[in-house]
Amino acid sequence: MAVTSNNQSRRQFLLDMAKTACGVGVFGLGLGLYTRQARALPPTAIRPPGALAEADFQGACIRCGMCVRDCPYNILELARPEDDLATGTPYFVARKIPCEMCEDIPCVKACPTGALDHQLTDINKAKMGLAALVDQETCLNFLGLRCDVCYRVCPAIDKAITLERTHNVRTAKHTMFLPTVHSEYCTGCGKCEKSCVLDVAAIKVFPVQLAKGELGKHYRLGWEEKKKAGESLVAPEIEHQYNLPEGFKYEQGPGLSGEAVAPHAAPAAPSGAPRALHGDKL
Ligand code: SF4
Ligand code: SF4
Ligand code: SF4
Repeated sequence: MAVTSNNQSRRQFLLDMAKTACGVGVFGLGLGLYTRQARALPPTAIRPPGALAEADFQGACIRCGMCVRDCPYNILELARPEDDLATGTPYFVARKIPCEMCEDIPCVKACPTGALDHQLTDINKAKMGLAALVDQETCLNFLGLRCDVCYRVCPAIDKAITLERTHNVRTAKHTMFLPTVHSEYCTGCGKCEKSCVLDVAAIKVFPVQLAKGELGKHYRLGWEEKKKAGESLVAPEIEHQYNLPEGFKYEQGPGLSGEAVAPHAAPAAPSGAPRALHGDKL
């Protein structure tokens, strides 16, 4: 009997060990999966307004869902375990349903931990993401057709997105209006992506760290430094001297100008001289 009892205890012990090892394995796998998810923020998942930088956000968010509850447009979702981002954290997908940019930002007010920064009180200063016109080959405006939908739906029209005019070299007589996003004003609300009329949007909103480049700290932009200093950084600033026919001057930008001289008084140009020397603007 004693032998049987010993065998039973040993079997029980081995069984317990196996269970523990299994449990640790599954826990480790879960933790590994969670860590992997926690690090990643897929390009289509946009955080609500005022979200802290991703690592800080994940540390501060307690997955309570209050922001989701208080969004009047049901835009926000909490990530499920099968989603490719930290489980329980709030996000939205612009192409599915964009942020309505509520003036009172109820999602931020509802957040009990500051994971959505309460210092954000002006929704126009939100940086949920950044729009980028990613496909010039299918954007109707880039093809020379007028669409403009992304431009017209933007809550910060003519600031966050403008239509830049350029010559249509294909037809040689039309103008193209190219949608251009300005990161200073774009809130990442996603209305442009949602409204793009193509089957797959040519303009898309990404988390800022995916959409925005960053200059090396050592770069100094001469024109910015000059503006900050209020004057030229090289003193004295000497105007460049050109050897031009009498009455002509060289302007930065437009080129050679003969406006200082009345057309009838323009000096006769030698044959073969460039057009500008006849008094024309370049
Ligand atoms: S700003 Fe308004 S629409 Fe946008 S996520 Fe917050 S509550 Fe929802
Ligand atoms: S309210 Fe704040 S803490 Fe709660 S889920 Fe939303 S972001 Fe996270
Ligand atoms: S995401 Fe699009 S619609 Fe929203 S502010 Fe930026 S450019 Fe405008």
